[in-house]
Order: sequence, then C-alpha cells, then structure tokens
Amino acid sequence: MTRFTHTTCSCGCGATASKEYLDSLDRVFKRAGLNPGISSMVRCRPHNKKIGGSIFSAHVLTADPGEFGATDLKIKPVARSKGGNAKQAYKIIKAAQAEGFNVFEVCNQHIHIGKVPENHPMANTIYWGVSQ
Ligand SMILES: [Zn+2]
Repeated sequence: MTRFTHTTCSCGCGATASKEYLDSLDRVFKRAGLNPGISSMVRCRPHNKKIGGSIFSAHVLTADPGEFGATDLKIKPVARSKGGNAKQAYKIIKAAQAEGFNVFEVCNQHIHIGKVPENHPMANTIYWGVSQ
C-alpha cells in the first residue's frame, strides 16, 4: 500500500479516509506507475465550506464508508519548460478513469481526481480550474 499523506482532515476534526477509498487510490497510483505528491484529500463538510470548496465536492465523501472521495495531486499539466509534466497528467487521468474515478479537474498547478456515485451532480465531468 502506498504511504499517502492528507488522509485526515486538516482542520483537526479527526475525519479519516475510508479503507475502500485508499485501496482505490492505491490501485490508481500502481496502474499509473506514479506516486505523485498530494495536496488535499479528506475534508469534513465544515472545513470544505470554510476553504471555499464546492458543496458537491467529492473531497467530503472521502471519509464516508465506501469507495467514494477525491484527491488533489501535485501534477502540473503544463509544459516542461514551465515546470509541468503533461505526460504524468495523462497517465494519472487514464489510470484513475480505469479504476472508476469519474470526476476530473485539470488545474494549472494540480489535477483533482474524484469518484462519486453515478447519480451525483458531478459524475462524469471534467472541469478546468485554477489552483488556490
Ligand atoms: Zn475537518
């Protein structure tokens, strides 16, 4: 199992990623052959609201029992000359999709991968974003 960071909510509430979600994320990393840095994973609902996250953010699902949740990965989908690694971005999205992740946000400084139920408002979407 990959040693992940950010497996508990940073507000100190104690919310912790479910085993099913971490297993799922582990399969993504192994399939992609990557171990990228993580900038966000578990968020309780109050903390997500405080930092301006979407009310539909899959981050809040990470601590719930089951396979759903989200992680922000320190992979920049920009040119190497600008410090990015677009090939890593491609690999991680391809691997995450194969493991059932169905929400993607391609941001200037990170890639958000999320797994939500099919009836969730953000299921099967790709967003563009600017990292905070
Ligand atoms: Zn919290």
